[in-house]
Amino acid sequence: MAKYIFVMGGVLSSLGKGIATASIGLLLKSMGYKVVLQKFDPYLNVDPGTMSPFQHGEVFVTDDGAETDLDLGHYERFVDEALSSASSCSAGQIYESVITNERKGVYLGKTVQVIPHVTNEIKSRITRLADQYDFIITEIGGTVGDIESLPFLEAVRQLRLDLGIQNTLNILLTYVPYIKTAGELKTKPSQHSAYKLREIGIQPDILLCRSEKSFEDEIYGKIALFTNVPKSNVINAIDVECVYEIPLIYQKAGLPQIICQHFACEERVINLHDWQVFLDNKTRSEGDVTIAVCGKYVRHQDAYKSVVEALTHAAIGLRKRLIIKWVDSERNLQGDELSRELSEIDGILIPGGFGVRGIEGKITIAQYARENNIPLLGICLGMHVMAIECARNLCGFDDANSTEFDDMNAHPVIHLMEDQRYIDFVGASMRLGAYQCKLEEDSLAIQSYGTEVISERHRHRYEFNNEYRDAIRNAGFKLSGVSMNDLLVEVIEYPHNDYYIGVQFHPEFKSRPNRPHPLFTKLIQASLKV
Ligand code: GLN
Repeated sequence: MAKYIFVMGGVLSSLGKGIATASIGLLLKSMGYKVVLQKFDPYLNVDPGTMSPFQHGEVFVTDDGAETDLDLGHYERFVDEALSSASSCSAGQIYESVITNERKGVYLGKTVQVIPHVTNEIKSRITRLADQYDFIITEIGGTVGDIESLPFLEAVRQLRLDLGIQNTLNILLTYVPYIKTAGELKTKPSQHSAYKLREIGIQPDILLCRSEKSFEDEIYGKIALFTNVPKSNVINAIDVECVYEIPLIYQKAGLPQIICQHFACEERVINLHDWQVFLDNKTRSEGDVTIAVCGKYVRHQDAYKSVVEALTHAAIGLRKRLIIKWVDSERNLQGDELSRELSEIDGILIPGGFGVRGIEGKITIAQYARENNIPLLGICLGMHVMAIECARNLCGFDDANSTEFDDMNAHPVIHLMEDQRYIDFVGASMRLGAYQCKLEEDSLAIQSYGTEVISERHRHRYEFNNEYRDAIRNAGFKLSGVSMNDLLVEVIEYPHNDYYIGVQFHPEFKSRPNRPHPLFTKLIQASLKV
């Protein structure tokens, strides 16, 4: 029978519950157990696909095309398993199916209530992968005490009753602040989070306590006493410089043993060899590589989470320290100002995005990179920008644009796909998920991937307009990747430069610390001129 681990958060948000959940997953997988991770979010949106990156950070896309919370990105990067839509659930989805059931008459005339109808729906989704895994690790979004989280926590409470203590484990992540003026670590907020959880019937079994400074013995004792958690199960999750060190901190603190003992399952040897190689490369890194990331969400860097991680993996794989220079494309720098802004960078990345703001700035940067042979990777919207720049400056179509930004222009080099023209609902209506793509011989794309057919994840509405294939080719570009049926252009590149490539998909979602994505590795190599 599958064992269930629940990770809940207390005190405040942004404590790294996603990373904690991912780290637990990695440790159990490294013992040879089959694990799956899932996130339950209390907001009423059906999925984060419709939420602004300014508010919610990146939307992570799975192979099966689910638009999910960025924590799924952490799960995939740590546990290195492709997750599916089954790993992402929101209150919006729960209510949507409860209400649909009510309309269908499924509840046979009963009054439909949060308990049991909503909580039953939550429980059935938490347990739906039970027969395929040894451990099901579920992160509950939000912070203990939020009104929205209550039905989810109630479901967690009931699951202990349904499945037994030997099959469920409740972990609470809290924060122990260091108060400078008192020179002390304060345990009260953690005590209160545990009270709050007990108030709704959940006794935490393990506390992961984030702190800036390490605990003295008496702190462990105090937290244990007031939270009713055995002292041995209070773990000091001290701040680290790099999130990939966290699994090792938990391992050192004995978390895998505590989990195995709780479930009475075999304590197997942990094999973190690849992980260790990555961390060793990081320690041994010498010299920097500076990549400019040009976008409009630069003040909200969670919007580019997977891009930043993919750049980091690639740089560390080449034993270089990554420096990111964030360039706000809305400033639309030109001429000397732009050269000054980009004077100390080694390479450029233009990430995905939506809407017209910052577009002209990105087009100028693509032109600057092309004309000065600066390595550039354009992702999705970044690729659109590269095609527009080519059409305007090499083909001479001065007004070329994407119909996303100007639907009246005479040269729509990027336009809407036929099946995107008549949609009624915006939610989950884009081209989403993994698609295969064929790469052209002798292209930078095939050299990077080392294989002819690739599969990458998509999230967009607009596509390269096939009427411009010849013009763009005649301008010296290669259309080096196309869909398996030849109908869609997926990769463009400019072979006169060392590295200038735009991809319609999002390669960043598939980069792993121990397996950097080849397009990112090539970008860093070209930036270092190696
Ligand atoms: N806005 C563009 C589109 O919808 C690009 C999307 C993206 O960069 N993910 O096609």
